[in-house]
Amino acid sequence: MPWTERQATLLRAMGVRLWQPPAAAEPAPPPVPTPAPAPAVRAPAPAAAPVPVPASAVARLDWPALREAVAGCRACGLCETRTQTVFGVGHAQARWMVVGEAPGEQEDLQGEPFVGASGQLLDAMLRALQLSRAEDGDPAQRVYIANTLKCRPPRNRNPAPDELARCEPFLVRQIELVRPRVILAMGRFAVQALLRSSEPIGKLRGRVHRYQGVPLVVTYHPAYLLRSLPDKARAWDDLCLAASVADVEPTQ
Ligand code: SF4
Repeated sequence: MPWTERQATLLRAMGVRLWQPPAAAEPAPPPVPTPAPAPAVRAPAPAAAPVPVPASAVARLDWPALREAVAGCRACGLCETRTQTVFGVGHAQARWMVVGEAPGEQEDLQGEPFVGASGQLLDAMLRALQLSRAEDGDPAQRVYIANTLKCRPPRNRNPAPDELARCEPFLVRQIELVRPRVILAMGRFAVQALLRSSEPIGKLRGRVHRYQGVPLVVTYHPAYLLRSLPDKARAWDDLCLAASVADVEPTQ
């Protein structure tokens, strides 16, 4: 309570020190906001440089090591856009080996070659010859299926020659490990990669070629057969030719 002037004079005269309420503190000025430091502009991380596949090292890998090497491969730019690598499927000692081109969208998502409509057509054709892609069972009735490229080219574009070349040691090793009696090369890029030939399939089919000593039969890719019914009959002839080769006991 504030003293009146008269009371204050009286109290001072009595030697009483008057208590004065402290002056209200000046409100502190609002802090001047300091501008937040501008976010550092980061340059996009440079894509990792491709790491070439040493073919001589791949040539010594067993199945688990080979699968692991493919899964971690960064030998070409396709490693940047793949969902996962597509290694291969089937019996490790199958009498037949089917080699396709490059993974498509579903293969990239599922990690298995020849899935979707073209895969179903391939399975139906194989079934007609009592063959399947199962991993166990009689090797005489099994196929091993792999692609020339293990990663999907973006938007299913054609594989580039250097991508095929960098990926080739993996397929070579798969063929060495399976040791099939016959290889069925399906589609233009599989044929180009294995036979080093740019001739059309129509000119290469109908006879037995060789890849690293293994008999090789050329035929159309199932995705093409889905669009071209007349060539289905030719593809069936090709499978029958491959079957006749697969039944032949290899000479050592
Ligand atoms: S396509 Fe073949 S070479 Fe290229 S990153 Fe995939 S596995 Fe490696």
